[in-house]
Amino acid sequence: MICPVCKSNDVRQKYASTLIGDIDYRISENQVGLHSEIKKCGVCGLGFVVDFDTLSIETIYKNSPFDDYYEKGRKGRLKAASKLLNLLPKKKNMKLLDVGCYSGILMESAMQKGYVAEGIKPSKQAVDYCKKVNIGRIYKGTYADVDSIIDDGKYDVITLIDVIEHVSDPIDLMRFVAYIYTRFW
Ligand SMILES: [Zn+2]
Repeated sequence: MICPVCKSNDVRQKYASTLIGDIDYRISENQVGLHSEIKKCGVCGLGFVVDFDTLSIETIYKNSPFDDYYEKGRKGRLKAASKLLNLLPKKKNMKLLDVGCYSGILMESAMQKGYVAEGIKPSKQAVDYCKKVNIGRIYKGTYADVDSIIDDGKYDVITLIDVIEHVSDPIDLMRFVAYIYTRFW
């Protein structure tokens, strides 16, 4: 096994799995301490779960039900999103793409601040929810699909909130974001 960031093979077990039976990830897990085996890279220090080699994001999200537990915290999450967006420079007519937008909380906050907001998410349930409550323009897919399904403009801001730690190749994700961010400049 090699580290997904620095590609070192100095990788050791940090924590054993606490899962019993099939892997059962949720967006917001209310059972504390539930995780699969966590490895740690001895070179760059990254901690990561090992199952990402065999499970794709699409597989995990495709059939998972909409997470009502996550949505119950929407009010607080909207406040957190607002604080994050307040860190950005203030300009008029900013266009934002939220990669991994789930139920559109960051998009909703961005729209309240005058952004044009778009989002992408692999979960059909989350996409349907965003459409139902009319939160911005939303696409179904992962970051790797952005180039093929979004063709109508450039973005001033691309956000990845709780995303980078969910992909099997974070370097590839950052390269892709850099490409999308700069392709119309
Ligand atoms: Zn590493």
